Amino acid sequence: MSEKREAVSQSVRIRSSVRGLPRYVAGAGVDESALFKLSSNETAFTPLPSVLEVIRDAATSLNRYPHVTAAPVAQALGARFDVDGTGPVGAAGIVVSTGSVAVLQQILSAVAGEGDEVIFAWRSFEAYPIAVGITGATAVPVPLTPDARHDLKAMAAAVTERTRAILVCSPNNPTGPVVHAPELRELLDAVPNDLLVVLDEAYVEFVRDAAVPDGPALLREYPNLVLLRTFSKAYGLASLRVGYAVARPEIAEAIRSVSTPFGVSGIAQAAALASLEDQAESELLSRVNAVVYERERVVQALQAAGWDIPQAQGNFVWLPLGERTLEFAQAAQDAGILVRPFAGDGVRVSIGEQEANDLFIALARSWRA
Ligand code: PMP
Repeated sequence: MSEKREAVSQSVRIRSSVRGLPRYVAGAGVDESALFKLSSNETAFTPLPSVLEVIRDAATSLNRYPHVTAAPVAQALGARFDVDGTGPVGAAGIVVSTGSVAVLQQILSAVAGEGDEVIFAWRSFEAYPIAVGITGATAVPVPLTPDARHDLKAMAAAVTERTRAILVCSPNNPTGPVVHAPELRELLDAVPNDLLVVLDEAYVEFVRDAAVPDGPALLREYPNLVLLRTFSKAYGLASLRVGYAVARPEIAEAIRSVSTPFGVSGIAQAAALASLEDQAESELLSRVNAVVYERERVVQALQAAGWDIPQAQGNFVWLPLGERTLEFAQAAQDAGILVRPFAGDGVRVSIGEQEANDLFIALARSWRA
């Protein structure tokens, strides 16, 4: 680059809130050494043959733009949700975008900007501080309880007149526990109804704790609630990028208005629709049962080995390793598995193939021995 051009690029006024943004650290990828990848909370199952076939067919129309707002997917999902007590909301109450991360970004840009505040638990999903930072609003992290749960009372107490949204992650990534219905109701009752409460349910299909809130039912009572869901985890379409929000139509409309036109590709829309077909969905959900079975096996093995770990309701477990976090991650890699370390805090390990889980259990045991 010429000196002059470089000087110009350095003088361009990038928003200060953007200059300071933390970077999203993705779970390590698999390299040639054929490690098991337990670092990104993906499903280890490859796509269903029926879904792959639809994807191949959809590829023949790549010269055409997809539906601009992915309305066919929204319509199919909307048939499942009654957000205001008047029956299925249809496409009006659903916002589909390129992963639930993108939907979250849209939600936040619809409600928050410079001078506003957004509350979330910490540690939680690492995209939260980035998404809030992009809007220019101030992130207000509220520490988890010692057992790695959301402290919803403290989150309610953190509300000020500048608060525009509260993010609740259940199950919490990366620590694993869910929020329970009574405590979430208490939060919803305590906070002003002009701010959004976003319930991020990216892992909802893996939950087996019966005390969790029924998100869709709560939407009928609390118009300021928004649910976030995704096809990336239980539905196994992480690479296709499809996630969605469920909200009252007025709120959904605002979230939709800040979306990138044609964001969700035709292939992704077709695959999402195919995954919602009865047969495909029941196959996908029985895979989820298999993951839950493995999760319980891993949790029991860890507990039997003396590990004190938080409730695990997603497709992952959390080892609170503190200062030994990076050392464990390296040992895991040496043992053939990639895990996701959060330096100084802990390691998140996704539930994967049985063989991978066995390697992880053996390593975790050896650390307690
Ligand atoms: N929410 C949580 C809590 C997550 O862990 C993730 C993925 N890691 C997402 C949302 C985003 O998933 P996606 O954008 O793939 O839908």
